[in-house]
Amino acid sequence: MPDGSTLESEICRRIAIAGPMTVAEYMRLCLTHPEHGYYVTRDPLGSAGDFITAPEISQMFGELIGLWAAAVWRQMGAPENVRLIELGPGRGTLMLDALRAAGVVKDFRQAIVVHLVEISRALQVLQQRRFETLDVPVLWHPTLDDVPAGPSIIIANEFVDALPVHQAVKQDDGWHERTVDIGADGKFCFALSQDTLLHFDTGLPRALRQSPNGSIFEWRDDRIALDLGRRTRTDGAALILDYGHIKYALGDTLQAVAGHTYTDVLQTPGGADLTAHVDFEALAQSAESIGGRIHGPILQRDFLLRLGIDKRAAALKAKATRDKALEIELAASRLTESGAKGMGELFKALAIADPKLGALPGFESLL
Ligand code: SAH
Repeated sequence: MPDGSTLESEICRRIAIAGPMTVAEYMRLCLTHPEHGYYVTRDPLGSAGDFITAPEISQMFGELIGLWAAAVWRQMGAPENVRLIELGPGRGTLMLDALRAAGVVKDFRQAIVVHLVEISRALQVLQQRRFETLDVPVLWHPTLDDVPAGPSIIIANEFVDALPVHQAVKQDDGWHERTVDIGADGKFCFALSQDTLLHFDTGLPRALRQSPNGSIFEWRDDRIALDLGRRTRTDGAALILDYGHIKYALGDTLQAVAGHTYTDVLQTPGGADLTAHVDFEALAQSAESIGGRIHGPILQRDFLLRLGIDKRAAALKAKATRDKALEIELAASRLTESGAKGMGELFKALAIADPKLGALPGFESLL
């Protein structure tokens, strides 16, 4: 029997003992296994890493979010103490840019205690180094639950896509959960649970109940959505930015990325980033069910344009060299453009907030 010294052998061992595992369990192990998990062992971000995110593309992203948070804090009645919480802060770039920009609202800056929710030891060490000289208290936590209660502003960029996703596949006799098994060739393969998922159809949006055989539906545990709703429904607001769909949809969006290229999801467990699109409708419904008010989701492009990314780019360009100005322009386009290279349409922004707060910046009606 494999000895568990690599994630591959550990997953084989688990399948041998307990049978095929769900796709969600496979994803959870690949990303966050305490010893071999992808996030646990490395810094995956940036041009030398596996993928690049909006805050790593441009300082404007974090700056606009910092100003968003300052405006929301005022709407909350400017509480003397506010928890500025980030879920999955990566290299900490977004938070550093946000805090610098928030410096223009002195009272807000003074009210902030930063709470970073980070599962990766490697990234936490990197964040600690970058936050060392900051004049704002910063605390780390393994989960959102561990952050003390109180007025909160929560930011999550490209966090939810990394949370494990379940998949169900439609067959003649109903929906079966998709699993990971070991094939005759000794390699990992996708399989289906023997039994159908009981009453799965009745929980599905009406339009998806008559889906053709072979259709795939993905869902996540709604714990994070409920936690966000619970924490923000009084004196709180959360901003979630990620790639995903505004309405329920069918499709297999599970993907593996390593070294900026797509790879096989099953080939190098723990060696590639695994993600799946965010179902913003499901996220919003769960958060709303517990008392949070939903704003959006809207396209990231619209959110950033309404927050003034064009003005910010122009201000930065005015002080920049020609090369640097071009870089700023390209970054602004990448964050707002449609198409395969742009993040403007694929990415969405959703806010969950205390119903008392009214419309939030960026989410005001277009009228
Ligand atoms: N928000 C950052 C990084 C995105 S990558 C950016 O935009 O650049 C995903 C981040 O979420 C990483 O910091 C990763 O370590 C963290 N993460 C992934 N799963 C997590 C979990 N279950 N709990 C806490 N942090 C998690």
